[in-house]
Amino acid sequence: MMAMADAGELWRRATAVLPGGVNSPVRSFRGVGGEPFFARAGEGAYLIAEDGRRFLDFVMGYGPLILGHAHPAVVEAVREQAARGIGFGVPTEAEVALAESLTAAIGPLEVVRLVNSGTEATMSALRVARAATGRELVVKFAGSYHGHHDSLLIKAGSGAATVGVPDSAGVPAAMAALTLTVPYNDVEALTALFRERGPEIAAVILEPVAGNMGTVPPSPEFLEAVRTLSREAGALFIADEVMTGFRVAWGGATELFGLDPDLICLAKVVGAGLPLGVYGGRRMYMDLVAPAGPVYQAGTFAGNPLAVAAGRAQLTAIGGAAFYPPLEQKTRYLAEGLVDRGRRRGLAVAANVAGGMFTLFFRPTPPRNFEEVQASDRERYARFFHGMLEQGIFFPPSQFETAFLSSAHSLDDLERTIRAADAVFARI
Ligand SMILES: *Cc1c(COP(=O)(O)O)cnc(C)c1O
Repeated sequence: MMAMADAGELWRRATAVLPGGVNSPVRSFRGVGGEPFFARAGEGAYLIAEDGRRFLDFVMGYGPLILGHAHPAVVEAVREQAARGIGFGVPTEAEVALAESLTAAIGPLEVVRLVNSGTEATMSALRVARAATGRELVVKFAGSYHGHHDSLLIKAGSGAATVGVPDSAGVPAAMAALTLTVPYNDVEALTALFRERGPEIAAVILEPVAGNMGTVPPSPEFLEAVRTLSREAGALFIADEVMTGFRVAWGGATELFGLDPDLICLAKVVGAGLPLGVYGGRRMYMDLVAPAGPVYQAGTFAGNPLAVAAGRAQLTAIGGAAFYPPLEQKTRYLAEGLVDRGRRRGLAVAANVAGGMFTLFFRPTPPRNFEEVQASDRERYARFFHGMLEQGIFFPPSQFETAFLSSAHSLDDLERTIRAADAVFARI
């Protein structure tokens, strides 16, 4: 029997040395004993806590683990690479091979740069867009998240299309003033904004399926408007596929919806759980990046051999487009099962699904933008989260987070989840 650490004691130690006890705010949820559980291991669809509890996991590292925890092919690739060296500071064949696979999988990706996170990818893509256009304004959509750097940690002010306000203390108002915010799926507001400020706009950055307000799919007219308006204004269209890349389809949302972005950002699935981000796109833009061009961007760990090995192994194991229909089918089965049970218990519930991502919303209809997500019964979501956790099932702690499935989730796992949810719905 392994010595088991008590979660309360670990939490006391954590809060003494980490801000709020965690290294990323979403991890700071109140679990069964009032503190989050601490992970000791992951096996397929399951997380095993330090105190020995097992949780069926629908968070999956917030997206990267599309094959489940500790997939043997990924583990072996990392082990094999680690034995040969962990970081070199010179180019490797493996990073070239990964770049080749990415450019083969996603049409508009002609040239890519590897970085260490999604945040770095969007930060760098914006710099390229500003350099390419000689303009400074960027447009984002309310409720979207693109990482924690100053240009994009911006929330909407009040009104249809607004100059953003900092979404964090410490973000300069001068930076926030360069980021304009429009409601998701709002063609009219976007059109009006471009009419007014089009010639000043460097880029529109879009989550082609929103995932950071919970899952919210785009309307076809909205996607069309983003592409057309940005092109007409001479602004770049940046698809932030950090969550959707290799998650909703092999070629991401770009392929799924036939998009034609100028730049694309990836992370999460592409790194298989290791820190790896990617930005890339048309050669004419990526040739602006140093040392090919004047846009400076660098990284000691960029193209790290362990992250590259993990990413390549995961993409190889996924294998291609055929992986995704069964994943989406499972995701729909679970989402529809949950909605059905919830409604039979008299609750207002609805779900949005895209590939291996979904969110159960406590409201009568699937939301189409952040305002509608915010109108969900978030307290009921919190009771759902806690009820499920007590039954050993780990859902995202917040109504604003997407749930993820992996190929490791079995039909039995889904049936058990639906049964557990039925019992929880009866008392929330
Ligand atoms: C997670 C996420 C990011 C940030 O990525 P990090 O690796 O956490 O920095 C950016 N954009 C989207 C759409 C994301 O889902």
